[in-house]
Amino acid sequence: MLPPGYNDGHRLFLQSIMAHGSITFSQAQTIAARISSSLGTVQTPEETPLEAIEHIVNTVGRAIALHDYQIRTSIDQRTGERVWAWVNTQSDPATQMATTLTPDELSFVKRVLDAIFDTYNSQRMEKMCVTKAEVLKLSHPPRNRPRPSSDAASSGADPAALAQQMAPSADKGLRHSDVERVIRDLISGGWFEQSKEKFLTLSPRGLMELQNWLFASYNDPDVAEGGWQRIKKCEQCKEIVSWGQRCSVWTCIVRLHDGCADKLWQARRNHTCPRCNTEWSGDKFVGERAITSSRIYRDAKDRRATMDTVARDIFNAATRDDNEEDDESE
Ligand SMILES: [Zn+2]
Ligand SMILES: [Zn+2]
Repeated sequence: MLPPGYNDGHRLFLQSIMAHGSITFSQAQTIAARISSSLGTVQTPEETPLEAIEHIVNTVGRAIALHDYQIRTSIDQRTGERVWAWVNTQSDPATQMATTLTPDELSFVKRVLDAIFDTYNSQRMEKMCVTKAEVLKLSHPPRNRPRPSSDAASSGADPAALAQQMAPSADKGLRHSDVERVIRDLISGGWFEQSKEKFLTLSPRGLMELQNWLFASYNDPDVAEGGWQRIKKCEQCKEIVSWGQRCSVWTCIVRLHDGCADKLWQARRNHTCPRCNTEWSGDKFVGERAITSSRIYRDAKDRRATMDTVARDIFNAATRDDNEEDDESE
């Protein structure tokens, strides 16, 4: 049964969000303007307020309420624009992607997620994205042998990954051409996004859809409150931060989105970390800027170096201290 007032415009909104996985505020404004003009009100997309879009989302939400789907909303961490995503409420990557990917492709995607949120997300450097070279290295499951030290942080954390490593290899891995196709499909399906600097990470929609699974998979329930965890929430808005700023004290767990940091400084007189009171420098980053803001990266870019290699070296240098600590504790 369709909710009262449900019309072609709502249908169009639903089709767009299903087709692309998500819809931005400006895209939604265009659709909302069409809905209002079909009802006889002339309104340009730019004039359409957030409330009008929220009204459409509510109506569409009621129309799909009986299915395993929901429309969730969050702010795009990079652009600051509001986005709505079409989300399966039964949310883990296996359920999500099983209809479109083969089992080998699915375990490749799991390796990419492990790389983004585990291997390349250390306490010293929360890069939370991967280069093309790093993705290609994940085409095959790791062989059953001790891993090189740069991967040491990930080896003990995930029982599923460990089981997969130990199992006789049913997973034959993917050819490089298949890796490229799967990544292309995941980007066009709205799961992943690739930045201008060619780093690959989970899109706003991917984050909204997998948020519960990410906390369950990558955070350690035994870590005490205030301890470092792989998946962190913004101090201000409580959403996941995979692109944002961090406190300059590397043991402090406060993270803020750029927009949330601006809001916080407007509301407070002093620019200090809400937890440890250290001056907030604003130039310590979560996400690819942890790499790209470094002088080594910028100099290498001027030299036209192979940036994937430069990114790897910066990450390994920053993470060495983490790995040494891990080695001691194992
Ligand atoms: Zn925030
Ligand atoms: Zn702090």
